[in-house]
Parts: sequence; C-alpha cells; structure tokens
Amino acid sequence: LFCRPCEFYFASQKLEQLPEARLPEVAFCGRSNVGKSSLVNALTGQNSLARVSGTPGRTKQLNFFDLGGRLALVDMPGYGYAQASRSVKEDWQGLMFEYLRGRPNLRRVVLLLDARIETKASDRAAMELLTDAAVTFQIVLTKADSAKPYWLRQRQEEAAALVKEHTAAHPLVITTSSETGEGIPELRAELTALAAP
Ligand code: GDP
Repeated sequence: LFCRPCEFYFASQKLEQLPEARLPEVAFCGRSNVGKSSLVNALTGQNSLARVSGTPGRTKQLNFFDLGGRLALVDMPGYGYAQASRSVKEDWQGLMFEYLRGRPNLRRVVLLLDARIETKASDRAAMELLTDAAVTFQIVLTKADSAKPYWLRQRQEEAAALVKEHTAAHPLVITTSSETGEGIPELRAELTALAAP
C-alpha cells in the first residue's frame, strides 16, 4: 500500500461536493500545528500533503488523497485556533459533523494529540463530536521525539483513559514521531488493515 504514490484528487468545501465514496476512507484530524502534515508525509513517504496545505484556500476544506488506489486519506482542517470566531468554529463543527455522520465509507478517524502538550478543551470537543457522530476514532500521539520520557508516559496513560471514556474509540494508542519514524510502521499496519484488497 505504501509503495504506491499518494495523490491529491479532491478538495471539498461543501458537503454537496464530496467525491464519490468508492474507496474506504481514513480521515486525519487534530489541532492546528499538531504535526498532521508531517505525519501524513512520513506515512506516505511523500510531501504531497504539505504541498496541498500550502495552496491558498486549501486549509479550510476536506482534502482527499488516493493511496495506491486502495484507501482514501482525508485531511481535515485543523481546529483549535484561539483567534477563530465563534461562527467559524460552529461552521467547522457543522461541516465536520455532517461529513462524519453521513460518510458510508469512512472506516476510521485518526485523532492526533501532541505528546508535549496537555489535552485541550478543543480536543475534548472533537472527541465528543466524533462520538456523537458514532465514528470510531483512534488516538495517535505526535512529536514523541521532543517529549520528556516522564511526560510522554503521562500522555500515553491519559490517551488510554480518553479512549476508555469514549465508546466509539479504537483501543490502540500509537505513539509517533515524524522526525525519527517511531510508530510509523504500526500506523501503516493499522491503515493497511482498513484498505480495500
Ligand atoms: P499541522 O499544522 O498539524 O499540519 O502541523 P505540521 O506538520 O505543519 O507541523 C507543525 C510543526 O511541528 C512544524 O514546525 C513541524 O516541523 C513540527 N513537527 C511536526 N512533526 C514533528 C515531530 O515528529 N517531531 C518534532 N520534533 N517536530 C515536529
């Protein structure tokens, strides 16, 4: 799966404009700056996501990538901008909720948490949204290379507890670093298991 190219193929700002649901989908979400682009680039061995995010206007929409013709990776807009207005936040939640609830081929959401920072209210709100939409999500910790070992253990325990709180969460918490490649094979294995044959 990861030997084939990962290509950007669709951007949608409105739910009426989603691409055909022909592939199993895995969506990535997290606070802005959590390391989402770096992680997806490390997973796919390409920097296509970074290139797309750098295109003006593409950061506020759902971006779809085709991974080897077997899986769609969906890059969800980052949440948690302190300076975003209430209406922007509500729009984000509305669009995400409709997408999450209505997408028949969505197999899982990967929710990224920064291993160096405590869980924020916006992360908890995202987990509530996912649970309300009855979508299975998986917690992946990012930037493990720059978290102190003691703190990293705390974060792993906290993530495991958060998973237990949410019935729609997948139990395996994966600790990753895009810098060192830690956890990347484990995450690839999870995604491979969700891909079309
Ligand atoms: P995004 O906004 O969630 O897409 O985050 P980016 O991938 O753009 O990363 C945000 C910042 O975190 C950048 O300065 C990255 O260099 C840094 N970063 C991302 N992943 C890692 C990592 O695994 N380790 C370290 N030390 N820094 C990282």
